[in-house]
Amino acid sequence: MRMKNHTLVAVTIVAVAAITVVLAGQTAKPTQAPAGNGTLLDDLVVANRILANENILDGLGHVSVRSLQRPDHFFLSRDLAPGLVTAADLVEYDLEGNPVNPKAPQGYRERFLHGAIFKARPDVNAIVHSHMPSVLPFTDVTTPLRPMYHMASFLLDGAPIFEVRSVQGQIGMLIDNNKVGTALAQTLGKRTIALIRGHGAAIVGTTIPDAVQNAIFLDVNARVQSQAVALGGNIAYLSPADVAGGNPNPQPPAPPGSPGYYTRSWLIWKAKAMGEKR
Ligand SMILES: [Zn+2]
Repeated sequence: MRMKNHTLVAVTIVAVAAITVVLAGQTAKPTQAPAGNGTLLDDLVVANRILANENILDGLGHVSVRSLQRPDHFFLSRDLAPGLVTAADLVEYDLEGNPVNPKAPQGYRERFLHGAIFKARPDVNAIVHSHMPSVLPFTDVTTPLRPMYHMASFLLDGAPIFEVRSVQGQIGMLIDNNKVGTALAQTLGKRTIALIRGHGAAIVGTTIPDAVQNAIFLDVNARVQSQAVALGGNIAYLSPADVAGGNPNPQPPAPPGSPGYYTRSWLIWKAKAMGEKR
């Protein structure tokens, strides 16, 4: 059917307008990645996969991130093994551990660990809770976990052991309510990690890549220390003088999603965990 002239003109105007809108949208595109939670949530999925792939988390354990738009909220997967987490599984919580959506799927019982630490530590934006086997011995013996190499220099601040029994009335060994979560956050103080007796550890970071690498380097350090102790000689632990020149592994001050936000280690861990072509 032939189109009448005035109809053709109208269609052309609409088409040109549409193209103009599209082009305007392209030119208005920010040069930096948007600072919304979208990139952050993608990174949280990747963090789950990395930590599963690097054997920091098995079927249990979890990783969270503070919301960019609501600093009094955080995101955590629903009750699911970290290696299976997708963006659709992420749930938004307030710092009391309540899901923002009352119809949210069942969450991890130990989500209170995250809310309590985010509440106590405004500088912390991501948290890993792990039962990694390398660290478990240090939760059960009096031998302190100490820094063996530069990537774990955060251990110079110590690795206190949180005792769940110390919380009055607490029964069981899980961080499954706000009272015990708050007590754990107090034990953590301003440090990067707190051990949990007979259970595991809480590891924090200023960003998701920071928390992930702190957890992975903690695992390496714990294995190296156990091997060094087994060798039986004197051990030259890191001392404050070793890092007097500054943090050997600073987190770049870059916004989430921008290239400077991701550490070199994160990029290779991500490629391995996500099956990306290298
Ligand atoms: Zn646990």
